[in-house]
Order: sequence, then C-alpha cells, then structure tokens
Amino acid sequence: MAVSTKKQLPKVCRECHRVVDGETCVICSTSNLSTDWSGYLVVIDPINSEVAKKVNINLPGRYALKVR
Ligand SMILES: [Zn+2]
Repeated sequence: MAVSTKKQLPKVCRECHRVVDGETCVICSTSNLSTDWSGYLVVIDPINSEVAKKVNINLPGRYALKVR
C-alpha cells in the first residue's frame, strides 16, 4: 500500500496574487495562475491592514507575497 506524500500546491493568480481554489481567479476572471509562489498572507481586514495597503489588496482573502 503506497501513500502519496506529494502535496499539491494551491494556485495563485498572477494578476492580483490571490490564492485560487479553482482554475480561474474569482476577482480577475483570469486563468493566468502560478504554482511558483512564496509568502502566505491572510487578509481579514484590508482597510486596517498596513501589509494589505502595501501590496495593494482591498479584498479579504488569502494571498501570496511573491509570484513568479
Ligand atoms: Zn486575480
């Protein structure tokens, strides 16, 4: 019995850096996605978040800091 340890990386939108669950970004409706990213950022309150302002995020959600 073989157990797969390979974990599938979530896809990230190259346009807005949002972590995407499906095949297209719900914000940009683009399929320009990347699995080569680093830095995980969860934005709950973008209006009061300095980090969110810095990376131009104005919607709550999960984001990647660096997308290649
Ligand atoms: Zn997007």
